[in-house]
Amino acid sequence: MDIVHRNIKYLAGVGPKRADVLASDMNVVSYDDMLQLYPYKYVDRSHLYAINELRSDMPYVQIKGRFYSLTTVEGRQQRMVAQFTDGTGSIEIVWFKGLNYIKGQINSTDEYILFGKPSVFGQKLTMTHPEMEKVVAATMETSPLQPFYNTSERMKNMGLNSKAIHKIVRNIFVEVGVSGIEETLPESIVRKCNLMRRGEAICQIHFPQNTPALENARYRMKFEELFYIQLSLLKNRNVNRTKSSGIVFGKAGAYLNQFYKECLPFEPTNAQKRVVKEMMADMSSGRQMNRLLQGDVGSGKTLVALMVMLIAIGNSRADGARYQACIMAPTEILAAQHYENLTGMLKQLDVRVELLTGSTKKKARTEILKGLQEGGVDIVVGTHALLEDTVVFNNLGLAVVDEQHRFGVAQRARLWAKASVPPHILVMTATPIPRTLAMTVYGDLDVSVIDELPPGRKPVQTEHYFHNSRNSLNRFIREQLQQGRQCYVVYPLIEESERMDFKNLTEGFEYMKEAFKEYDVCMVHGRMSSDEKDEAMRRFVSGESHIMVATTVIEVGVNVPNASVMIIESAERFGLSQLHQLRGRVGRGADQSYCILMTDFKLSQETRKRMEVMVGTTDGFEIAEADMRLRGPGNIEGTQQSGLPFTLHISDLVKDGPIVTYTREKAMELLAADPLLQMPENAVAVRRMSDIAKENVNWSRIS
Ligand code: ADP
Ligand code: MG
Repeated sequence: MDIVHRNIKYLAGVGPKRADVLASDMNVVSYDDMLQLYPYKYVDRSHLYAINELRSDMPYVQIKGRFYSLTTVEGRQQRMVAQFTDGTGSIEIVWFKGLNYIKGQINSTDEYILFGKPSVFGQKLTMTHPEMEKVVAATMETSPLQPFYNTSERMKNMGLNSKAIHKIVRNIFVEVGVSGIEETLPESIVRKCNLMRRGEAICQIHFPQNTPALENARYRMKFEELFYIQLSLLKNRNVNRTKSSGIVFGKAGAYLNQFYKECLPFEPTNAQKRVVKEMMADMSSGRQMNRLLQGDVGSGKTLVALMVMLIAIGNSRADGARYQACIMAPTEILAAQHYENLTGMLKQLDVRVELLTGSTKKKARTEILKGLQEGGVDIVVGTHALLEDTVVFNNLGLAVVDEQHRFGVAQRARLWAKASVPPHILVMTATPIPRTLAMTVYGDLDVSVIDELPPGRKPVQTEHYFHNSRNSLNRFIREQLQQGRQCYVVYPLIEESERMDFKNLTEGFEYMKEAFKEYDVCMVHGRMSSDEKDEAMRRFVSGESHIMVATTVIEVGVNVPNASVMIIESAERFGLSQLHQLRGRVGRGADQSYCILMTDFKLSQETRKRMEVMVGTTDGFEIAEADMRLRGPGNIEGTQQSGLPFTLHISDLVKDGPIVTYTREKAMELLAADPLLQMPENAVAVRRMSDIAKENVNWSRIS
C-alpha cells in the first residue's frame, strides 16, 4: 500500500482521538483524504494595512506595529485591552479568554503582526482576539497566502482549528515528500494538457507560493476530478456496448408509416423529425439505445414518444413475436392523459393500448397483465405500477420514461430488467439541465434536444404581483374567462407544512367560488381519491369547469390548450424549475397566455431574483442555468433526490463548465485509442477510478 493510503492516526500530530473526529466530521481517514481537504479560502498575508485605512466593513486584515499599553478591565466579564499603533493611527485590541497567556506573550519593545477583523465600537476602532506573531518569527517560512480550512465545532473544541489542520498537512509532506505523492493521471494526459504534477499541485494548494501557482494547481486538481467522472461514464458505456448487443429495429414499420400517412394530427416540427431520426439510428444500430430527450415544456415530446413506440411495435423478433412498448409517467393524472392522447391519435390503427396504474381495478388489471405476458397488448401506459414484479412482458422492445426527474435511477434500472435483451430506453425530461451538468450526471446517455416549439406559440407573458393586488387580478381573470379561456390557480403543498398549506388551498377554492359565482370552479389535490381527481380533471379538460384550483399535482404534463392563465400563489415557495413547469401548463394554444406570480411583499434577495428570472425569460435552458447559479448544482431538479452521484472536492459545476467540456473531450480521445483502458500506460487511470468509486458508494447508480 502506498504511503498516502496510510491511516491518519499514525501521523505526527494526530493520534487516535483526533483521527476519530476527523473521520466522523470530515470523512478523513487516510493521508490522501487529508490532502484532499482543500482550503475553502486564502487570505493574502503579504499585504499590510495601515491602521488609518481600516474600516468596519473590511474582512480579515493584517497590520504591523507595537503595543503601547495593556490593562485588565474588570466587569461582568473580565477582559484585557491593549492599544496598538503603527504610526498612522491606533486600534484597541481586546481579549476575553486566555488573558494570562496573552500577558506573557506581549511586550512593548517587539514589533508584531496582527491578523483579525476590524470593527468599530462606539467611535473606537477595535479588533478582538487577533492572531498574533512577533515580527522576528514572522519572517516566515510560511507562504504569503494563508489557507483556511473548514472545521466542525467538535474539532475546534479539541484544538483542531484551521491552523492545526494546516500543520497536520505539513506533517504529511514532511513524512511523504512531494515526490511521495504519486501521479494519478496517465502520462500522456499530463503532457498533452500541460498539467502540473499531482504532488506539486497538492503542495501548492496547501502552501501556495503565489496566486498564479495556486491557480495552476487548482486547475490541475479540478481537471483530474472532472476528467475521471467523464472517463468512468464513457468507459462504462463502452463496456456496456461490448457486453450486450441491442435489439435491432430494422425498419420504421407499418404502424409508423400508416400513422404518418393517415393520422398525423399536425405536421411535426423539424426538431421532432430530427430527434426521431436520431432514435431510429440508435435502435437500428445493434446497440441498446440509452437516450435522454430534452425538450422544454410544450415542445411536443409526446408525439415523439408515440412515433418511437410505433417503430417498436412495427418490428418483430426472429420468432415472429412483435415487440411491445411501454411509457411510464410520474402521476396517475399524467398517465391517464397520455393514455387518452395516445388512444385518440391511434384510433384508426389496429393497436392495443392499455392503461395500468395503482388504481386499475382488479379485473381489468388481470386482463392487462395477461395481455402483456402473452403479447396481445402492444403499448402500455402506466405509473410506477409498471415496475411491479407482476408486470411481465412477452417481448418488451422499448421503454419510455416521461418526466424523468420524478423517477429514481434505480427505478429506471428495474425497467431494463424486464426483458432478457435489455430494451431500448428513452428518457424524456422537460426540466432542461444545464449542459455541463447533463454531461456529468447523464454522461452515459446520448442526448437529443427538441430546440423548437410548435409554430404559432406566443411566449407566456409573466408578471409578478403582490397579494394586495387581488382586485385588479380578479378583473383580469374575469376578462380572460369572458373570452372563453380557462384559468389555473396553484397552491404549494409540502409535507412539512401540509396542514397549513391544505387550509390555504381550500380557502383559496372557497374564495374563488365566491369571487367568480357565475363560473364553475373545480379543485384537484393529492388527498382526493383518484375518481374524484379524474372527475375534476375531466370537467376542466372538457371546458365545463372554468377555473381549476390545484396543488402541484398538475405540475407535470397536463395539457389543456384552452387554459390561458396560470396564477401561482405563494410563488416564493416554488423553485425555478417548478415555476417553469407550472407556467408550461399555459401557452399551449394559439392565444396569448399569462402567468401571474403572487408573492408576499417581503422577499429575500434570492427569491426576488427568482421572480425576475421568471418574468425575464421563458427559455427553459436559461432558467436552468440561473437555477444552478442560484442554488448550486446539487439542488437542481433531476439530481435532487439522490444528490450528485459523486463527491466534488474542488470543482464547481457552475463555474467550471469549460473544464467539464474539455475533460470530456480528453476522455473521449483517450478511449478512442484504448476503449477499455487495457494499455499499460493507462493502468494508472483504472486504479484511480476504482479508488474514486470506493469513495462514492453511489457511483454505480448512474451507469
Ligand atoms: P411536452 O413536450 O411538454 O410533453 P406535449 O407533447 O404535451 O409537450 O405537446 C404540447 C402541445 O403541443 C400539445 O397540445 C400537442 O398536441 C401540441 N403539439 C405537439 N407537437 C406539435 C406540432 N408539431 N405542431 C403543433 N402542435 C403540436
Ligand atoms: Mg409531456
